[in-house]
Amino acid sequence: MSGINRRDFLKWGAGGIAFLSAGLPLGGVSSPLEMGKSVSRTTGRMRKSIPSVCMMCPASCGILGYLEYGKVAKIGGNPLDPNSRGRLCAKGIAGLNHLYNPERIPSPMKRTGKRGEGRWKEISWDEAFDEIALRLRSLQAEGRSQDFVIQNTWDIASNDLAGRFASAFGSPTTLQHAAFESPNGSSALQDICGYSMAIGDVAHSRYILNFGANPYESHFLYVPFIQRLIDARINLGAKMVTFDVRISQTAGKSDEWFPIIPGTDGIVVLAMARVIVKEDLWDKQFIERWTNLSPSRLSQHLAPYTLKKAESASGVRASDIRRIAVEFATSKPSFAMSGGGMLKHVNGTANQRSIFLLNALVGNLDSKGGYGFPQNYPLDFPGPVPPRQRGMNPEPQTLFLQVNQRIRHIGVLMTHMDNPVYKGPDSKLVSYALQDEKRIPFHVSIDPFFNESNVYADLVLPEATYLERWDLLSPPPMDRVPFIALRQPIVKPLGKSLPFADILIQLAHRVGNGMDRYFKFGRMENFVEAVIRRIPKLVDAGGIDLLMERGIWTDPDRKLPYGMHQRKRLMTSSGKYEFDLLPPLYSPIPQHQRLADGEFHLITFQWNVHSYSQTANCKWLMEIVHKNPLWINEETAKRMNLNSGDRVRVTSALGSLISPVFATQGIHPRVVALSDSVGRWNYGRTAQGKSFRSEDAETNLIWWGKDGTGVHPNPIMPIQRDPQGEGQGWMDTVVKLEKV
Ligand code: SF4
Repeated sequence: MSGINRRDFLKWGAGGIAFLSAGLPLGGVSSPLEMGKSVSRTTGRMRKSIPSVCMMCPASCGILGYLEYGKVAKIGGNPLDPNSRGRLCAKGIAGLNHLYNPERIPSPMKRTGKRGEGRWKEISWDEAFDEIALRLRSLQAEGRSQDFVIQNTWDIASNDLAGRFASAFGSPTTLQHAAFESPNGSSALQDICGYSMAIGDVAHSRYILNFGANPYESHFLYVPFIQRLIDARINLGAKMVTFDVRISQTAGKSDEWFPIIPGTDGIVVLAMARVIVKEDLWDKQFIERWTNLSPSRLSQHLAPYTLKKAESASGVRASDIRRIAVEFATSKPSFAMSGGGMLKHVNGTANQRSIFLLNALVGNLDSKGGYGFPQNYPLDFPGPVPPRQRGMNPEPQTLFLQVNQRIRHIGVLMTHMDNPVYKGPDSKLVSYALQDEKRIPFHVSIDPFFNESNVYADLVLPEATYLERWDLLSPPPMDRVPFIALRQPIVKPLGKSLPFADILIQLAHRVGNGMDRYFKFGRMENFVEAVIRRIPKLVDAGGIDLLMERGIWTDPDRKLPYGMHQRKRLMTSSGKYEFDLLPPLYSPIPQHQRLADGEFHLITFQWNVHSYSQTANCKWLMEIVHKNPLWINEETAKRMNLNSGDRVRVTSALGSLISPVFATQGIHPRVVALSDSVGRWNYGRTAQGKSFRSEDAETNLIWWGKDGTGVHPNPIMPIQRDPQGEGQGWMDTVVKLEKV
C-alpha cells in the first residue's frame, strides 16, 4: 500500500477531519503572559496559587492550584517546571472534576452483601485499620507473607512507599502500572543497555521516524514530549514519518503516513536497517566501538530482510521503505521511536530491539537529537529500609490467570487506584478471581471512587486525591537536567479521605511485628522532609520552603552529558550496547497469518482527553469524548453495506459486543479500532452519562447518556502475551463483524 502524504490527507472528506479534530487539540495552553497568574472573576483580584504536581497521567507536569474562598477555583501550569514549561493538557485542567466530584467515596466502606452486590456500610478508620491489620497478621502467622499483593497505580511517587510496605511485610509483590503498560519496551531496553527509560531527544531532532507512537494524543511524558516535538517541527523543520494502522492525530500531523498491516513494523525496520548497511550509510565505527555486535555478523543477520519480503508482509511499498531508510540515515540528527502500535503485540519485544538497532546503525544512541536515556535525580530514602524480598513479580494479568488456575495464591490483595477488571484484557477472568473468596480471601481497595473492580472488594478506603497530599517526585527530565518536584496539598483532604501513603504508614504501625520500624517517620510530610534533608544542595537553596513556594528544584550541575557510554560502562555484561546474544528478529504473528475473509484485526487506542480507566468520571472530559464508535475503513464498510452509525456485532474468541461504526479512510482496510476509557458499567453516573442532583449543579445537566457512552473492548480481548517481554498483545485480537 502506498503512503499518504499530508497534502493528500488534507484533501480528504470533511467528515473524517471533523471527527478527528473534535476535542483533540492540545488543550490548556496559556500564553506566556497568562502563565502563573489567575484573576478572580468575582473580585477581580489575583488568586493565590499553590504549586504541586499533576497526576491525571504518568507525565507528572507541574501545576498551580488557584484558590478562591478556600476552594480550588482553577488548575494551571507551573511555568517553573522544566519539563512541562507551564503548560497542561485538558486532563490536567480537569483534575478539579476529581477533587470536587460528588461521587467520591465518603468514608471507609465495608461490604455487607455478596461480593459485587454493591451493598456497603460505613465504618470508622479505626475499624478499617484493625480489620486489615488482623488479616495481615494472620497471613504472617501462617508463614504466608508472600501472599500479600499490592497492585499500584501509575503514579511514580507512590511506588516507593508501596514497595517499602510490601517488603517490610515480607512480600515481593508490588505490581506497578508500568509493568502492565509497557513490559515489552522495558524488557528490550534493560537487555540492550541496562537503562530503565529511553526517550527521543526530540527537541534537537531533524527527522523523526515513528512506528506506532501517538505522542500528539498519548505518551508517558505527554505534554513535555509533544511540546518539544512541535518545537523541532517548527523551529528545525524536522520531518516526521509515521507508520500506523490508523490515522492517529500524530499520523495526521506527520509529513507522511503509512497504514501498515498490524504487527509487521518489525520487518519494515529490519529491511530499513539492511538498506542502511547495504548502501553504506551506517555508522560502522559506532557499531564496532559501542556495541557487542560485529559489522560482519550484523550484515549476515540482516541479509534475509529484503525489501521485497518487507513489502509483502507489511503492505508498504519497497520503494518507500528504501527511500525512508535513506532519508533517516542521511538527515542527521534523526531518531526512530516506537509506541503502542508497535510494542503491544506478541512480537513487541523483538520490535523494540529492532528500533534500537536502527538507531544504533546511525550512531544516534545517547546523542543530541537522537535516542536518549534521561536519568532521574537519585532520591535517598530515610532508613531503616526493609530488605527487598526476592520472588515473583509477575505482570498483573498473568497473576490473575495464575490465581484462577490455582497456581498462585493471594491471601490479601490491596489495589490502589487500580481497576484490573476494566483495565486489563479478559475482564471476565479477573472478575471471577475477584469475586471468589476462596481464590482471594481478602481484598482492600484504596481509591477515591467505586469502580468495576473494587465493587468486589471487602473494604474500600476513601483515598485523598493528588490535590490533597504530599509526595516527592523526580520525573524523567526532557532536557537532561534532573529536577525534583513537590506534590503538596492544595486543600486538605475532603470528607474522611486519607492519602495512600498515610494509610500505609498507619497500617504498618497497626500490624507491628517489626513493620513499624520502617515507618518511624509517622506521616508522609515527615518522610518528604527527611528525603529533602539528605540533599545538601537543596537544603542550601531553601529546602522544603523553597519547594513549597516554587514546586520545583533543579540541579544544573547534574546535567547529563550526551554519550554516557563513552564515559562509563553500560550496565550490561559487555559494558556496551548488547545485540549479539539476541539480534532482533521479525516473527510473524501466527493468528494474523490465518486471517480469513471477513476477519479483522481489532486494535485499541487512547484519546488525548482520557487516561486509561481513570478519567471517565470527569465531566469536562466526558463532555468532549464519551463514546467510541468502531473505526472501519470506508471501502470495507461499503462492501459490508455499512454506513457510519450502523451497528455491528464484533465477535472474538472470547465473546461479542455491539457498537456503531465510524466509516473512514483513516484506517487500514483489514483493521477495526475501538478507543478505550469509556463504556463504563460501574464508575459513577458521570461516566455513564446519567444526570443527577448533587452539590454540583452541573451534574444535573449531564446530557451525553442520550448520545451514547460507548462500549469497552477489553472484555472480548483474550490474554495473549509476548513470550519475550511478557506484554499483552493488545493489538492482536482477531474479530468477525456482523451487521445488526
Ligand atoms: S500530560 Fe499528564 S501530567 Fe501533564 S497535565 Fe496532562 S494529564 Fe497532567
